[in-house]
Amino acid sequence: MPDHVLPAPPVASLAVAGSAARFPLRRIFCVGRNYAEHAREMGHDPDREPPFFFTKPTDAAFDAPEGGGVAIPFPPATRDLHFEIELSVAIGRGGTDIAEAEAPAHVFGHAVGIDLTRRDLQAQAKKLGRPWDMAKGFDLSAPHGAIVPVAAWNSPGAGAIWLDCDGERRQEADLAEMIWPVAGIIAALSRLVRLAPGDLIMTGTPAGVGAVAPGGVLAGGVAGLPGVSLRIG
Ligand code: MN
Repeated sequence: MPDHVLPAPPVASLAVAGSAARFPLRRIFCVGRNYAEHAREMGHDPDREPPFFFTKPTDAAFDAPEGGGVAIPFPPATRDLHFEIELSVAIGRGGTDIAEAEAPAHVFGHAVGIDLTRRDLQAQAKKLGRPWDMAKGFDLSAPHGAIVPVAAWNSPGAGAIWLDCDGERRQEADLAEMIWPVAGIIAALSRLVRLAPGDLIMTGTPAGVGAVAPGGVLAGGVAGLPGVSLRIG
């Protein structure tokens, strides 16, 4: 190990179900507009505009297990904090130009996460043609349930996905509604960057996104995976 002029930052990580060892995070990639109804609710035509990628910093991710009583401060600089429930894919084996048929062999496991979004900053960025980073990549913007290794759960192609805000069901869809299925996402992303162990891909959110008020409680899930829940502010 080289000497550093400051203490090296800790490796960001997420819990792994049934394991004391954690999943070390290298990068977080996110898919935009991967469910047709969500693309439409955001004012876009999914038949004309394919999904795309953006990123969050790794230390935006944190454990927020269902029933864990996790609470975070309400994020600064927004009056319109939105929830987006998503299936996350944890990459265990890297590669470039990965064929769809080979993609499953690169997956370590899956988890459920929330892509917290400062929608007002995103709307402003879109209007001005500016990057989304400050709308998407802020501190604590990626709460997650535990990652389940593929040996225990490997059904990313279908199954219920949902989110409750303050006890009310707000998002409800099926993973089968993804425009790019998980294997297609891995293939597409691996043509843009060399995927590496520790990469996490948030695969996009279904329709029903909305604002959570200060003090609000979010709880969400994907059938068969441990849930995510937290209070905000
Ligand atoms: Mn999202």
